[in-house]
Amino acid sequence: MASILVIEDDPRIRRSVAERLAEHGYDVESAGTGIAGLELVTSATPDVVVLDLGLPDLDGAELLHMLRAISDVPVIVATARDEEASMVRLLDAGADDYVVKPYSAAQLEARIRAVLRRSAGDEGPTLVTIGGLEIDPSAREAKLQGVPLSLSRKEFDLLVYLAERPGQVVSKRELLAEVWRLPYGGADKTVDVHLSWLRKKLGESAASPRYLHTVRGVGVKLVEP
Ligand code: CA
Repeated sequence: MASILVIEDDPRIRRSVAERLAEHGYDVESAGTGIAGLELVTSATPDVVVLDLGLPDLDGAELLHMLRAISDVPVIVATARDEEASMVRLLDAGADDYVVKPYSAAQLEARIRAVLRRSAGDEGPTLVTIGGLEIDPSAREAKLQGVPLSLSRKEFDLLVYLAERPGQVVSKRELLAEVWRLPYGGADKTVDVHLSWLRKKLGESAASPRYLHTVRGVGVKLVEP
């Protein structure tokens, strides 16, 4: 069974979440501070981390960055802040999914199953090649004409999502849902901003596209130039 690390400073919540997950057969470790949590990420190598963002010792986004520097473990953030801007920032910082407090054990388990499914699916080492673009999703590496591209986590995810659907127009709504795990509504700027960063790294612009083509009012597609 999968092992879960719960990082939560409120002892009541920590205990009840850990108990519920253990009852459902998960192997659970828990920590009450960010620092103790980081230590357990290395020593206990959990399959999923559930991270409370309101910790006494470290800011949630800061902790995510530190965690990402040492591990690729899927992270579900638990937050009382349900505003979209901070969610986008956290998902960009490396969170895989989130639950908004107060959440039920069933809700959390559904998210755990989903991230476990996704991380199991990542194992298929299928190299994607489109023109001079070469992407290795499992190694998280992309090259353009043999030169490695330096992409952020979300830029890479966006590129893979589009590259796995060459020539197919993908809507911003779908990108938000599938790449960012966010509902649609006002956040389409997020997609635009990441698309423009990705374009720049591919050495092209919206005015003279090569790989990335915007279809006005519909979405975007990746094609062989
Ligand atoms: Ca807290």
